[in-house]
Amino acid sequence: MKTILLSLFTFQMIFAQVVFNEYFENKTLRFDYFHTGDKNSDSYSFDELIEEPFWGGSKVNLIDKFNYGKYKFEVYDLSSNKLIYSRTYSTLFSEWQTTEEASITQRTFSETVVFPFPKNKVRIEFYGRTKENKFEKKFDYTIDPANYFIKPEREFKFDSFKVLGNGDPAVKVDIVLIPEGYTESEMTLFKGDCEKFAGYLFNSSPFKENKDKFNIWAVEAPSIESGTDIPAEDIWKNTLVDSRFYTFDLERYLMTADNKTLRSVASNAPYDQIYILVNSSKYGGGSIYNHYSVCVNNNPYEEYVFVHEFGHGFGSLADEYYTSDVAYENFYPLHLEPLDPNITTLVDFDSKWKDMIDQSTPVPTPQTDEYKNVVGAFEGGGYVAKGVYRPMQDCTMKSLTKDNFCKVCRRALQQMIDFYSE
Ligand SMILES: [Zn+2]
Repeated sequence: MKTILLSLFTFQMIFAQVVFNEYFENKTLRFDYFHTGDKNSDSYSFDELIEEPFWGGSKVNLIDKFNYGKYKFEVYDLSSNKLIYSRTYSTLFSEWQTTEEASITQRTFSETVVFPFPKNKVRIEFYGRTKENKFEKKFDYTIDPANYFIKPEREFKFDSFKVLGNGDPAVKVDIVLIPEGYTESEMTLFKGDCEKFAGYLFNSSPFKENKDKFNIWAVEAPSIESGTDIPAEDIWKNTLVDSRFYTFDLERYLMTADNKTLRSVASNAPYDQIYILVNSSKYGGGSIYNHYSVCVNNNPYEEYVFVHEFGHGFGSLADEYYTSDVAYENFYPLHLEPLDPNITTLVDFDSKWKDMIDQSTPVPTPQTDEYKNVVGAFEGGGYVAKGVYRPMQDCTMKSLTKDNFCKVCRRALQQMIDFYSE
């Protein structure tokens, strides 16, 4: 039996490898585009194609199996019309669309998708969500890998180093740490911070049990000035990826719109996830699913922020809190089941964590001591007190707590770790 299982396993491995090698080379093709629109409409336009030296992603799980995020892209082999790669993701534009500003003006954001460098001609298709959360095709583009306009130039070439090395990037979750607002003379500080924050991640379950499935890389890229922008205090710093507090006029929301520089800096290492460490003691951070995450390096809540934000960026986890001010309006329509795995409107609870609830636990679940450490459906989450439910009374996605992901968040994170490391 063992032999049969083993050969089956080997067969699957070889078969999957052939697929990758049949269609792709072991480097990255980066597709940059512009995403323009307002609250109710959006359009895409092509920017440029860039060849990057490393491929940090899976060579087995080429097709996305998660129905997360606001967007999806699909890559088709042109001659056979076979789907050969896809990923779901969200962007700063999708969040901006839910702000008040989007109802009075139009804006353009630079966005990027990456996939393994194709051997033959491919067609890339871009999808966005309809109001009912269904994917709708928005844009497509045909790519000839022999096109001499695909740019191999490295505008932001820097040395990179390993903070944690566990082997082949194809079977690991690869996080690349980007230094933001660290000057040349602060690179030693950055290296120390890389060790400190890698340590934070593995203080938390389920990351600590899966430490051997991660690689952490860092890029040695100094900024001209130290710190970051704080527009409301008229503080402006000339930094590597131009991050700032007050994104969407929310003080603690620390993000960057300089997508192209960020991606160019990140390309100095193989990566699945980009994490920007900002040299600041002010409370703040942010993260968007399969886009990038941001955290400050020197604040009493730094460990919590670092791990919480990674929950968004890596696991597409929703915020389970509902008491803080946010910039969004009606972020989760109550007549639809949210896409994120850790909140529900009970519209389609079967698709969420209903299987993890004991039959004796009522739904909705009372917020009493009796159900303190129990998986249920507790009202309040996703920025609203009514109509959105969370899995447990407390979680790292709800309160400023460490090593406290609820059981549903842990399961979702574990599934994602497995997807990258199979
Ligand atoms: Zn949770």
